[in-house]
Amino acid sequence: MTFDSLGLSDALLKAISKKGYTTPSPIQQKAIPPVLEGKDVLASAQTGTGKTAGFTLPILQLLQGQHLRHRPIRALILTPTRELAAQILANIKEYSEYVDIQSTVIFGGVNQNPQVARLRQGVDILVATPGRLIDLQNQGLISLAKVEIFVLDEADRMLDMGFVRDIDRIIKVLPAKRQNLMFSATFSKEIKKLAMGILHNPVHVEATPENTTVDAIIQKIYPVAKEKKTELIIKLITEGNWKQILVFTRTKQGANKLTESMNSAGIIASAIHGNKGQGARTKALAGFKDGSVTALVATDIAARGLDIPLLPHVINFELPNIPEDYVHRIGRTGRAGASGEAISLFSPDETTFLRDIEKLVGLKLPKENIKGFEPDPNASTEPIKQGQGRQQRHSAPKKPITTSNRSANNNSGSGRPKPNSDRRPARY
Ligand code: AMP
Repeated sequence: MTFDSLGLSDALLKAISKKGYTTPSPIQQKAIPPVLEGKDVLASAQTGTGKTAGFTLPILQLLQGQHLRHRPIRALILTPTRELAAQILANIKEYSEYVDIQSTVIFGGVNQNPQVARLRQGVDILVATPGRLIDLQNQGLISLAKVEIFVLDEADRMLDMGFVRDIDRIIKVLPAKRQNLMFSATFSKEIKKLAMGILHNPVHVEATPENTTVDAIIQKIYPVAKEKKTELIIKLITEGNWKQILVFTRTKQGANKLTESMNSAGIIASAIHGNKGQGARTKALAGFKDGSVTALVATDIAARGLDIPLLPHVINFELPNIPEDYVHRIGRTGRAGASGEAISLFSPDETTFLRDIEKLVGLKLPKENIKGFEPDPNASTEPIKQGQGRQQRHSAPKKPITTSNRSANNNSGSGRPKPNSDRRPARY
C-alpha cells in the first residue's frame, strides 16, 4: 500500500515524501479514503498511530483549490491540550507546504492578541482547545459559520477533562450541514453517546492489531510500602543507570514532590503538569528529548498529546485511578524491535485501582517483590482520596483493551510476552 493509491494529490504526496513517510499507517489506510469521500468517520486510534495525518491529509485535499474570498474557517479541529493542538498545527504546516491553505492554532494560557490578529488575516483550518475557542467566540472575535469539516480529536480525553459541555456549545454554533470526524482511543458508553450526537452514519475505522508489528511491553508490578516509593524509584533509576524515564504521578503536587526528591538524589528530573506555564512545559519536554533531563515526571493530562519518542522505561509512581490511563501510559514504552518496560509501584491502598486495570486489560499483571521494600501484609487496602478532581468514568469499555502482554497470564511471573503472542498498534 502506498500513499498514491489513497487518492492524495501530487502536492500532498510531495510533502509526505519530504517527511520521509513511505507507507501509510493502518489508521491512515482506513481513514483517508472515507474522509476524502466526504463521509463522517469514527476512528479508534491513539496518539502514535499516525492518526493526525489520517485526518489532516484528506482535509487538506478537500479544501485545496477552492478558496472563498475572505478565507473563513472551513475546518475546525478540536483537541484537548495545548501540546496536542500545537503538534497538530505543526503537522498541518508541513503537509500543506505545497498547497495554498492557511492554518493556525489557538489555546489558552497565552495572550490572545496574536492569535486574534492571525485569525483576522483569514485561515482555512483552525486547530483549537475548547476553552480559548469559546472565549474568542463569546467576544465575537471568531466565526464558525462556514465550517465544513469538524474534527473532535482525543474525544475520550475531552470527556475526562470535563469538556463535554464546551463541546456541546461549540457544536451549536457550527453549521448543521458538515462533515464530522471523531477520534478516540477508548470507547466508553459516554463516548458512544457523544458520537451519536455528532456523527451521521459514520464509517467506523480502527487500527486493528492484525495490521501491526510486534512490539513488546514488559509490565511489572512492584508491591511497595507507600512511604518507600520514592526510595525505590531512586534505587531503580540509579542502579539500573537508566537515562530516559517517563514517570507518572496521579497529582500535580505529587509530581512536584517527587521531582524535588529525585533532584536531591542526583537524578535530573523535571515535572510537567497543568500548573506549569507553557514555557516551563516546553523547556521540560525539550530537555527530556535532548537527554539533559533524565526523568520527566508527568500527570496523565499533561502527558497526553506530548510527542515523546517511545521510551525504554515508563514508571507508574502511582497507579492511575482511571484504568484507561494505564493503557495510555504504558503505550509510551516499547521501541521497534525492542521491548520496553512499564513498571508500576503498587502500594496496598491502590488495590482497587490495580483490580480495575487488570479487568480492563484482561490480564493478571505479574508482581515481583523487591527485598526491603515489601509492604506490610496487614496494611489497609482502602483507597486513598483521589487527587486531581478527575471523575472516574462510570463505565469501562466492555471489550478488554489489548496490550501486548497477554502472556502474563501464562508466563510464570516475568511479564515477558511470548514471541508473537500479542500485538499492539505500531507507533508512527
Ligand atoms: P500521531 O499518531 O498522529 O501523533 O503520529 C505519530 C508520529 O508518527 C508523528 O511523529 C508522525 O509524524 C509520524 N507518522 C505519521 N504517519 C506516518 C507514516 N505513514 N509513516 C511514518 N511516520 C508517520
